[in-house]
Amino acid sequence: MAHRLVFRFDVDSHRCLGEGTRALSMVAARHDVAFTFFVHMGRATDRGRLARSVVLRRVTGNDVHRLSTRRKLGTAGLLRLAVTNPLVGAADGEEIRRLVAAGHEVGLHGGRNHRSWQESADRWDHRRLTAEIGWGLARLRAAGVDAPDGFASPAWTTSSAVATVAADFGFSYLADRHGTVADVFDLGGPLPEVSTNLLGEPGGVGYLEWCRAKGWSDRQLLDDFACRLHAIDDLAVVYDHPFWAGVHDADLVDRMLGIASRQGVEVLTLGAAVARELRG
Ligand SMILES: [Zn+2]
Repeated sequence: MAHRLVFRFDVDSHRCLGEGTRALSMVAARHDVAFTFFVHMGRATDRGRLARSVVLRRVTGNDVHRLSTRRKLGTAGLLRLAVTNPLVGAADGEEIRRLVAAGHEVGLHGGRNHRSWQESADRWDHRRLTAEIGWGLARLRAAGVDAPDGFASPAWTTSSAVATVAADFGFSYLADRHGTVADVFDLGGPLPEVSTNLLGEPGGVGYLEWCRAKGWSDRQLLDDFACRLHAIDDLAVVYDHPFWAGVHDADLVDRMLGIASRQGVEVLTLGAAVARELRG
């Protein structure tokens, strides 16, 4: 069974940073634990692509359980995204500094645009990746995070070049693998990699979002969570986004932490788990 548990939240949109992160931070404080937030510093979407996907209601396949953008952001949030597509992390350094001051880990999530990374970064060359990650890192430093440990690619879109460029920039680990694997750590590449293993599959969907897309009740979700904690060996890494887990389901995160606490599971940040693994 898992002895250690990480909550990893990817900050993708304007509704993640602020409303979502504040709600999660309050839950963490109640349990005296810290979370890991991978913050996207650029813009969440490409407005042309967003309009097409909303009109066409493009989905990834019947076996992928995820909620619509409108359900996750709300109608007002979706409209704001479609009309202004605001900067995410670069627009709210104050909230990033507040998260760090509260003891949370803040890592970098992609470059200038979450959507274009998601759709194209696996084909970007070394030069383009250097420009994208360099841009994000400069904004994160401007927000007060001088040397983030972790890098995570939007939508798991990655390549061996991403690992090389992130290593060149001084990151100490990469969090681009997901799914149930025998070994949660892979120390063979240019950067140590850690797998995110408590989420919705296929597709690598946020765990709470995936449970809700399946229509599960609170009870079903919590029973499944307890069961998965039991089945995972040593380190469990839960994945979701603050615009869902914080805005809609913070109470469930609170109850998940209660289950972990009753089972004697230690809650730590991803950076701390990787550092401990590297020390052996
Ligand atoms: Zn993301």
